[in-house]
Amino acid sequence: MTDRPESLVIRPPSEWRSLLVRITRGCNWNRCRFCGIYPAMGQTGFSIRSLAEICSDIDLLVRLHPRAETAFFGDADPLAAGMEIFCGAARYLRRCRPVQRLTCYGRIATLHRLGPENIRRLAEAGLDRIHVGLESGDAGILRRQRKGQSPEMAVQVARWLKEAGIELSCYVLLGLGGRDRWRQHITGTARLVNTIEPEFVRIRRLWLHGNAENGCPLWQEVATGAFVEQSPEGTVREVELLLGLLHPLNTFFACDHANNYIQVSGLLREDRDEMLAEVREFLARPEEQRRVHYTVIGSRI
Ligand code: SF4
Repeated sequence: MTDRPESLVIRPPSEWRSLLVRITRGCNWNRCRFCGIYPAMGQTGFSIRSLAEICSDIDLLVRLHPRAETAFFGDADPLAAGMEIFCGAARYLRRCRPVQRLTCYGRIATLHRLGPENIRRLAEAGLDRIHVGLESGDAGILRRQRKGQSPEMAVQVARWLKEAGIELSCYVLLGLGGRDRWRQHITGTARLVNTIEPEFVRIRRLWLHGNAENGCPLWQEVATGAFVEQSPEGTVREVELLLGLLHPLNTFFACDHANNYIQVSGLLREDRDEMLAEVREFLARPEEQRRVHYTVIGSRI
């Protein structure tokens, strides 16, 4: 035991003020072809921390951040720690600090394996919201990218979460279909989002960090030409198509990452048309202006 809590590798931008509690280290799946984020950040393996270690970190975090009102559990899939550890940690945290919100990352496949009864137990232990990598609603793209989940699994999981009263925050990855399958990617994604109506859709852009020698598996397909990366403007067209296909849902749509070339956000039910108009206004700007904009936006984790 030390006087510093273990740090998470990454967290959602919306959790920047939260108590960041590490339940597991790394990603237990680690097979998505486009990812490799944890190994790239020095976390090559996966392990589960003991409840005693986690509770000791919670004690430290509560002391170090007396004003924090929300908490987040990581790394990639803390639910893989099992119900006893996850719920034990959630209950201990809520005893130490009555936070307004407890959220975590989670894999759809893990939630699907847990089933509706365990998902209800997660809610009882105090989990309010879960951030999942939906990535795409197209079954073929998910398979090709080895995501380990299907749109059907996402539909079931979303229903169980709704029944349990846990909010669903979904990440959608622009560019995941490459240049060849972008319409298929976005059409399938819109269909899935319209079906599950999550509380949040958060837009990310595919960015392959590293290089062909030292990066994620998708780099090899880029090198052979089997996967052609989407252009910057292509990702903006994807946002346009997605917004055009999404229904007026009670879903908050957010491009809340600095890598996105277009930053629109709002409630689909109220702000969808305005967001769409903003994207179209951008696409109508002179080509040189758009090119400069794409150059200025960086790529970072
Ligand atoms: S995208 Fe998520 S589940 Fe897939 S390898 Fe990366 S961290 Fe793991």
